[in-house]
Amino acid sequence: MASQEIETLVAALSRLPGLGPRSARRAVLWLIKRRQSALPALLEALAHVQEALVECATCGNIDTTSPCAICADPRRDSRALCVVEDVADLWALDRARLFAGRYHVLGGRLSALDGVRPEDLAIPALLERVGQGGIDEVVLAMNATLEGQTTAHYLAERLEQFPVRITQLAHGLPVGGELDYLDEGTLAQALRARRPVS
Ligand SMILES: [Zn+2]
Repeated sequence: MASQEIETLVAALSRLPGLGPRSARRAVLWLIKRRQSALPALLEALAHVQEALVECATCGNIDTTSPCAICADPRRDSRALCVVEDVADLWALDRARLFAGRYHVLGGRLSALDGVRPEDLAIPALLERVGQGGIDEVVLAMNATLEGQTTAHYLAERLEQFPVRITQLAHGLPVGGELDYLDEGTLAQALRARRPVS
C-alpha cells in the first residue's frame, strides 16, 4: 500500500485521457525516481500552463493570448472558416499546415445519448460569427463518427441561411476516425478533397 500522497497523485493522473490507473501508477513511480531531474521541469511547465493559457474568445483555441495567434495573424485567409469539434482537432489540422483560413472550435459534438444540445456547444457563437459576413466558405471538419456527422448535418442546415459555401472533409477519413489520431497525409488528403455538403 503506497502512501496517501502517492495515491492522491495516481488518482489525479488516472483521470487524464489515455491514462488508466496502471499507467498513472507507472508514471508516478517514474517521476518519484527522477524527482530531482524531471520533476522541477514538469512542475514549472504545469504552473506555466495554469498561469499563461487562455481560451481565445473568437475561435475557442487555447493560446497565451486572446485573440489567439491564428485569429490575430493577418496572413490568414479571413474568408475561410474551418469548424472542428475540439482544440486537439484544430492543432492536428494546423500541424498539417494545409488550411490557410481560421478556425471555430465547437467544444464537443451533438449527442442525444449524452444530452449535448446545440446550445451546449459554441454553435450560437458560430452562427453569429458567420452572420457577421466576410466569410465565403465554412469547412465542416467533424470526426467521421456518427455523432460527428450528425453534428455536421445539423450545422449545414443551420448555415444554409447565410451566403456561404459549406464543405466537409472528404470521406477518405476512416469510419469512426477521429482527426486527432490521423496521420498528416490522410488529413491533408481529406482536406484537399473536401466537397460541398449535399
Ligand atoms: Zn482564435
